[in-house]
Amino acid sequence: MQSKRTKALAACSDSRAKNRWIGLASSMANLKFIMKNLLLFLAMASLAAPQGDPISGEHIRADVKFLSSDLLEGRAVGARGGQLATEYIATQFALAGLQPAGDNGSYFQKVPLVGITTRPTVKLSATGKGQTVDFKYMQEFVGVDQRQKAVEQFDAEAIFVGHGIVAPEFQWDDFKGVDVRGKMLVLFTNEPDSNDPKFFGGRALTYYGRWSYKYEEALRKGALGVIIIHTTPTAGYGWDVVRSSWSGEQPVVKLAPGAPELALTGWLTKEAGEKLLAMAGKHVDELLKASNSRDFRPIPLGIRIRGTIPSKIRALDTRNVAGLVPGSDPSLKSEVVIFSAHWDHLGIGEAVNGDTIYNGAVDNGTGCGILLEIARAWAALPQKPKRSALFLSVTAEEGGLRGSEYYAAHPIIPAAKTVVDVNYDALLPLGRTTDIVVAGAERTTLWPIVQHDAQRLHFEIAPEAHPEQGHYYRSDHFSFARAGIPAFSIALGSHFAGKPAGFSEEAFKEFNTRHYHQPSDEYHADWDFSGLQEAARLGFLIGIDAANLDKMTTWNAGDEFLAAREKSGVK
Ligand SMILES: [Zn+2]
Repeated sequence: MQSKRTKALAACSDSRAKNRWIGLASSMANLKFIMKNLLLFLAMASLAAPQGDPISGEHIRADVKFLSSDLLEGRAVGARGGQLATEYIATQFALAGLQPAGDNGSYFQKVPLVGITTRPTVKLSATGKGQTVDFKYMQEFVGVDQRQKAVEQFDAEAIFVGHGIVAPEFQWDDFKGVDVRGKMLVLFTNEPDSNDPKFFGGRALTYYGRWSYKYEEALRKGALGVIIIHTTPTAGYGWDVVRSSWSGEQPVVKLAPGAPELALTGWLTKEAGEKLLAMAGKHVDELLKASNSRDFRPIPLGIRIRGTIPSKIRALDTRNVAGLVPGSDPSLKSEVVIFSAHWDHLGIGEAVNGDTIYNGAVDNGTGCGILLEIARAWAALPQKPKRSALFLSVTAEEGGLRGSEYYAAHPIIPAAKTVVDVNYDALLPLGRTTDIVVAGAERTTLWPIVQHDAQRLHFEIAPEAHPEQGHYYRSDHFSFARAGIPAFSIALGSHFAGKPAGFSEEAFKEFNTRHYHQPSDEYHADWDFSGLQEAARLGFLIGIDAANLDKMTTWNAGDEFLAAREKSGVK
């Protein structure tokens, strides 16, 4: 049987060559040309044959299995398990024949961060109308002092600010000019309800809906801190995810002396939120409703929030892993396509059903396995694409996309010379899908090749199954997009071949509610990696085509990231 490798290689070679074959077949010179190409093709095919398929789901399985084993202790940033993971990835890069692209001839780009761990003696209370409520850490609240101090103390007025959004393009302003300097903002994450794609993206979450936006806007407004009242629908996940994500060590970029930061980035459970709001005579559902109105105005709650936040602070030395395969064109090889996947996960944390290791098999052992497999296939290509390929496994994604943010600020290859970032994050190995999600690609000049390559692999391009989850703003490609680089993740669609309707929805629900950011995100021997294999193939083909493009890529007219692209120097 003809292996998929020969097919893929034939497909990868420039399609214009095929037209040349037909058009020029009449002269001897052209016959020579055909023979040369045919011989090259046969040579490639015979080289390829013994190795079989260049992209193998079983290779991806082996990487996922190792990276998510208990031995790696959940791959925490600044911990032994994380160091081992980066060493493993660098070793795989070396074995595949990638050139070191990190600092001082190594595979590592050092990312200096600070780790903040809130100590369990943290106190948070609310006082109003002669009554005080103390909130219980972990059961009722979690939070971090972003000022990177050993102990932070505050006593501040609380003001409810709805969704905390200022979006002039949607004529939306939750603050209405009210001065919130020095105050504790109480708000909901997410954004106003909408089915109109022109209004906050309709059902899809825009960046305004993400918690990270809320904290950034609060800081711009000079607020003291933020308390988000959690609800499962507004967050898109349950309290256990908030708790496990915020109670461990938080890797952040070291604060410059005198730089402003929030004294608290915190979360309250819905029940604790009810207790807080009851002191102001309000209810969660009532305020959620009020927050959906354009006429909403900030509501001073008549409550003071007191906090004492002791933190353990330490310098965190962590690293991105970077390997390069040089391009074949003397002038274009200074430009790159980037493949990325974060290697970090949550490490060792609070026990759930007696298990303390947050293995992160799906999140993001799978992305790392795919990244490594594409790297191996790329390095084995007998004829390298014109541009170079940079394989980047970034750190500290779980702590807020820190590793990719650091790369964007300290690029190995400048943004203007970067054609695309193709990212992989958390793919469920449950078999092949007939559809694929490449959300964001349609907003870039890469769209025709993405469509073409999806078609070659018989993939239907599907819209995001859960646009309300705001995945575009939740993974590393977003850091590249903010730097102007056309960037998107490749994710599996929701139609699993040979599985009943509803299978995907069930599987997503099961993962999102029971295993996402939990110790039970573990490797399973019965996983089927054929879908990940196809997702890797698609990225491989897109990467090759992008590396051979005549023109530098950009974002489409009117896109939110176009200005950043132009600022980077791409016109
Ligand atoms: Zn994650």
